[in-house]
Amino acid sequence: MTITPNTLALIGNTPLVRLKGPSEASGCDIYGKCEFTNPGASVKDRAALFIVEDAEERDAIRPGGTIVEGTAGNTGIGLALVANAKGYRTIIVMPETQSREKMDTLRALGAELVLVPAAPYSNPGHFVHTSRRIAEETPNAIWANQFDNIANRRAHIVGTAEEIWEQMEGRIDGFTCSVGTGGTLAGVGLGLKAKDETVCIALSDPYGAALYDYYAHGELRSEGSSVAEGIGQGRITANLEGAPVDTQFRVSDAEGMEWVTRLLGEEGLCLGLSSGINVAGAVALGRQLGPGKRIVTILCDTGFRYLSTLYNRAWLESKGLAVPPWLARD
Ligand code: PMP
Repeated sequence: MTITPNTLALIGNTPLVRLKGPSEASGCDIYGKCEFTNPGASVKDRAALFIVEDAEERDAIRPGGTIVEGTAGNTGIGLALVANAKGYRTIIVMPETQSREKMDTLRALGAELVLVPAAPYSNPGHFVHTSRRIAEETPNAIWANQFDNIANRRAHIVGTAEEIWEQMEGRIDGFTCSVGTGGTLAGVGLGLKAKDETVCIALSDPYGAALYDYYAHGELRSEGSSVAEGIGQGRITANLEGAPVDTQFRVSDAEGMEWVTRLLGEEGLCLGLSSGINVAGAVALGRQLGPGKRIVTILCDTGFRYLSTLYNRAWLESKGLAVPPWLARD
């Protein structure tokens, strides 16, 4: 037990937990990297810290400056916390269709919210383009640009991958996760391959994303849809370029939710749906690699962020998803 010198040093160095149910289901040892223990309760704190510190090193932002990003979720929360700790302002641009909870959380942390109508990416009013324009028009401001700023994946090459390698004592056969920006998959993939090129790196892709087809057949194509937040990508972002993907799985929301429910009910872990999709992918990877293999995946964020959705009976029923027995009680 040690004393951490400041709050930013609380980001990273997350625990790795052996997951009993997924290990039994696959005949392998499956481990989850507990990213929900970061101060902002998600994996995105790492990218937020690296993006801000990269801008500082390039002199792109000076004391009292402003960080602008288009995001509705975990990246905004991470950026707001990092900005507070370093004395910057945060402006977060989000579509007005996002949940009330997310807006309340970002406001509670001190971020200034700019709400824009939902629009396709090709529309200049899309929240990502709007955030870039606001950053350009604001003095002493940076645009975090998490999708194409590779300071994001560097956080996972030098942080997450190193930690996993040490925690696994260099004995790891496979790694899998899903993709939002691709920072985690590409960064951990590159970091682990640099240690041992035989580690199998697998994409776990939700329906509605185009990457499964890209890695399987070389074509960006999507089918279906997913209610998972924070994941589901339709293009090769700068963070994804050169990601060493060996194999890929498509995971349904129902499969992901089954693990979300089992991990809570049987192991006491309250997680979001991207974590469930990752665990389902890890079980699939374990079955592909064979018994006894050691596989790591990412537990991306806390389930407490989804009390009105993933942990709400009426919402689950409205999406046609199974309701856990403890939520079905009257
Ligand atoms: N899960 C959740 C809940 C997220 O918010 C994100 C970030 N968008 C991811 C997974 C994916 O992480 P990455 O951006 O590194 O691909």
